[in-house]
Amino acid sequence: MRPPSVDSLARSLASTGLPHPLLVDAAREAIALGDPSRASSIADGIAASLLVPVINATGVIAHTNLGRSPVELHLAPRAQNLEFDLATGGRGSRQRGIGRLIARAVGAEDAMVVNNNAAAVLLVLAALASGRDVAVSRGESVEIGGGFRVPEVMEQSGARLVDVGTTNRTRLADYRKAIGRKGNDVALVLKVHPSNYRIDGFVEETPVDELATLGVPVVADIGSGLLDAACPWLDSGPPAWLNGEPAARQSVLAGASLITFSGDKLMGGPQTGIIAGRADLVAACAQHPLARALRPGGLVLAALHHVMLAYLARTVSVDVPFWRMASVNTDHLQRRAESIATQVTDVRVTPCESLPGAGSTPGASIPSVGLALDGDHTAVLRSFRPPVIARVRDNVTILDLRTVDPSDDQVVVEALRQALASR
Ligand SMILES: *Cc1c(COP(=O)(O)O)cnc(C)c1O
Repeated sequence: MRPPSVDSLARSLASTGLPHPLLVDAAREAIALGDPSRASSIADGIAASLLVPVINATGVIAHTNLGRSPVELHLAPRAQNLEFDLATGGRGSRQRGIGRLIARAVGAEDAMVVNNNAAAVLLVLAALASGRDVAVSRGESVEIGGGFRVPEVMEQSGARLVDVGTTNRTRLADYRKAIGRKGNDVALVLKVHPSNYRIDGFVEETPVDELATLGVPVVADIGSGLLDAACPWLDSGPPAWLNGEPAARQSVLAGASLITFSGDKLMGGPQTGIIAGRADLVAACAQHPLARALRPGGLVLAALHHVMLAYLARTVSVDVPFWRMASVNTDHLQRRAESIATQVTDVRVTPCESLPGAGSTPGASIPSVGLALDGDHTAVLRSFRPPVIARVRDNVTILDLRTVDPSDDQVVVEALRQALASR
């Protein structure tokens, strides 16, 4: 039998919804493999590589592989006053309005936004310490997932790392010695929150309020972006799972000259890095040539405005999905789970544990409620449109409802029916 032509094979895949040139790629690849019948699965593979909304039923709220914190963004196709001053009609700054909101929310003089926290740390070091020394505790010279390694970021910034203390214990006197050592030119002390890693036992670290007495600006990379340890946006106050996570407002109060953190971890915003603190130091960062290369776009800033206004208006538990999901009570989840379980046979309600995610609060979990079905159904659930991402434990598929928006419960019902029908 003659192999089908590339064109007719590509046309036969039209139901995937992919544009024709991609179907031609799939058809060519299958024919080159000598097996035209594989064209369809190759096309499915291409479709699965494209960015689509998914339903996160993993229970990990800010799931790094699922884009960390979910954010809401509704934008009309209109221009924005991104760098236009509405008061004067002249050139404006994309940092001014958002900088004010963040500074107000954390009690800092000023703030600015870059693409992510790795960029924030890089920019601070390059702008304030290039060609000079930066003192870092040996216990905080860490790697934080996805290639963020303190010594390597330091190297890229042009600053020199000065190791202080030991892996498990670093005291104020150790910093003092490093700063005073002949030949050292310490521009900054950098304190890094180890985030997803913890050492226990015979350990000691020097808190920000002590470091602030050294006479050298202290930069605290707090990582997760918890804005205020008191969580004034929650009626019930700080949840137990926060587990001593460092917070922005308290770090500024303790005397950090600058803090840096991610916008898309515990803050619940879009992927961004925040630099907040002393106005003169923020200005030095904003004026550095790298600031242009690291700046966020208007879409991201629009989403971030929405989140920061919610913090200032104290509507976070309603308007910021991360905190809405983190604070929903288990009775509510139980009722949703029971409703779904009555609509799908062979699915039962189960207690489970959610995680804040994004490498923050290691070891802490949040009691939750979900659905369980025997066997591993994750592949079928992933192939549903929209894809439903679940996890498996001991050959039982678990869907944690904490990270599923209630408006998606009916989609979950349909996905579960399909999963069970394809057994
Ligand atoms: C997560 C984290 C980073 C990296 O932040 P990104 O926003 O992912 O670039 C850097 N430092 C600390 C302490 C972190 O927790």
